[in-house]
This record gives sequence, structure tokens and C-alpha cells, in this order.
Amino acid sequence: MIISIASGKGGTGKTLVATSLALSLENKKAVQLLDCDVEEPNAHILLKPSFSHREVVSTPIPQLDEEKCTYCGKCAEVCAYKAIAVFPKHVLIFPELCHGCGACSYLCPEDALSEINKEMGILEIGYSKGVEFIHGRLTVGQAMATPVIREVKKHINRERLAIIDVAPGTSCPVVEAVKGSDFCLLVTEPTPFGLNDLALAVETVRKLNIPCGVVINRDGAEDSKVEGYCRKQGIPILLRIPLDIEIARLYSKGITLVEGVPQWQEAFSRLYNDIEQIVFGG
Ligand code: SF4
Ligand code: SF4
Repeated sequence: MIISIASGKGGTGKTLVATSLALSLENKKAVQLLDCDVEEPNAHILLKPSFSHREVVSTPIPQLDEEKCTYCGKCAEVCAYKAIAVFPKHVLIFPELCHGCGACSYLCPEDALSEINKEMGILEIGYSKGVEFIHGRLTVGQAMATPVIREVKKHINRERLAIIDVAPGTSCPVVEAVKGSDFCLLVTEPTPFGLNDLALAVETVRKLNIPCGVVINRDGAEDSKVEGYCRKQGIPILLRIPLDIEIARLYSKGITLVEGVPQWQEAFSRLYNDIEQIVFGG
């Protein structure tokens, strides 16, 4: 099963939930944690894995041979991402917009475009306390996270439980990370901002046809309309983590919730059982 852990906004505690869920189950099943928040991965800070594999993630981008180019404009026409502009005597390639689809070099009638690999980020694989850990890091200055996320997700092992830590928000990297999941856990906080971003996240996962449930973090912080919203939308609230200075202290020290307060293991095991029931129970 693949469970993605997402949130409409940053700082709601999705990494806290992802890491504790993974560690709570490592004695019961084979678990993978994939940190797909490649712009700001931080699950490794809590899990402290030993990495045994590292590879560069690159994408092929076009390179022009001016000698062969006739400035026909076909490459610019075919590029859906506006990554090539053709002028009467000049071709401009914008590597930061290129998705590496290869269409331009394939369709160039003069064979004037070859491909060179451009580094997008790195991928690291390791283990932490019985959990297989995989994460990607986007190279500084790179704008496109999706190729790195795709590489991380290639390591999903369907024989295991794969937990995906997704970037905050509802943009392309979020869709790339969440798609294909069997369930999406949305972590929110009981504030008006939390509700607003939760509603956007629900819209996104529903468009992807993925069932979802909610975790309310910092529960009790404010009177909120999150509960009413979930009731109205028929979305189950599967876990509540209270506003607690001790939990915040543990997190700031890089200690997972289930390691700092082992009593939470049971709650996270129950959370998994509830998800399993929703996904397979009918
Ligand atoms: S399609 Fe090929 S020949 Fe035509 S403008 Fe682009 S690079 Fe030049
Ligand atoms: S490889 Fe694809 S995205 Fe990149 S410039 Fe060519 S057509 Fe555009």
C-alpha cells in the first residue's frame, strides 16, 4: 500500500506524522519512507538514516548545433513548456523550463538538437531503525522538482508499505508525489489558515481520485471549523495530536514523537489500521 502524507501548508507537522507512522509499524511490516519534499527534505533529520547509496538525478536537455539549424521553428512549436524560442537567425533554449521530454530533438528535421544531461538533484537511499529510507534533494538553483520526485518514487516497492512525505501546498510537485497513492493523509491545524489550505488539498486529492483522511495537529490550539468541514465533506478525522510544548520540544531536538513518547506508538498503529480498513475494508 502507498500512503502519502500531505498538507495544504508548511509547518503543520506532516513529517512528524510520516516518521512516527513509519517507526510505529517497522516491527509489524516492511516499511519504506520516501521523502518527496525534495526542495526542503527534513525527514532524515528525525530518522537519522545511514545512507548506503547515492546517485545524481539528471534530465536530458537540448543542445543546438547552429551549423545545422535552419531556424524553421518546429522545435518551438512542439515544446509545450515554452522552453525554446526561435528567431530569424537565433535559437534560445531555456533549460530551467525544459522538462526533458525529448520532443524537440526527435522532431528537428535537420538533426540540429542533441541532448545533454543536466543535474537536477541527488537521490540517497539508506536504512533507519528497520525502515528503508529514500529521499531526493533538488540542486540549489533548480526550479523543477518533479524529475527528482519521479526518481525517488521509482524506488517504491509494492511488497512493502510505502509512506510518502509530500511537499506542502497543492502545486505540481505535490500532484507528482501524491498520484498513484492508495490513500492520502492530510495533516492540518485547527486555525482558519489551516482550514483554508486543507480545503485546497482536499480538492487536489479528490481530483486524483484518492481517498483521504485528516490528522489534526496542535489540536486545542484554537476554536476551529476544521471538524465541521470534515463532517460536511465526509472526511474522517483519524488522529488528533494535541498542542503540547513537550511535543514541540522533541521535534525541535530532532526526536520523533514515538521515540520521545512511546505511548504514541499505539495511536499510530491504530491510525494505520483505520487507513487499511478504509482502503481494503470496503
Ligand atoms: S527544429 Fe531544428 S532546425 Fe528547426 S529551428 Fe529548431 S533546431 Fe533549428
Ligand atoms: S526537451 Fe521537451 S521540454 Fe525540453 S525544450 Fe525540448 S520539447 Fe521543450
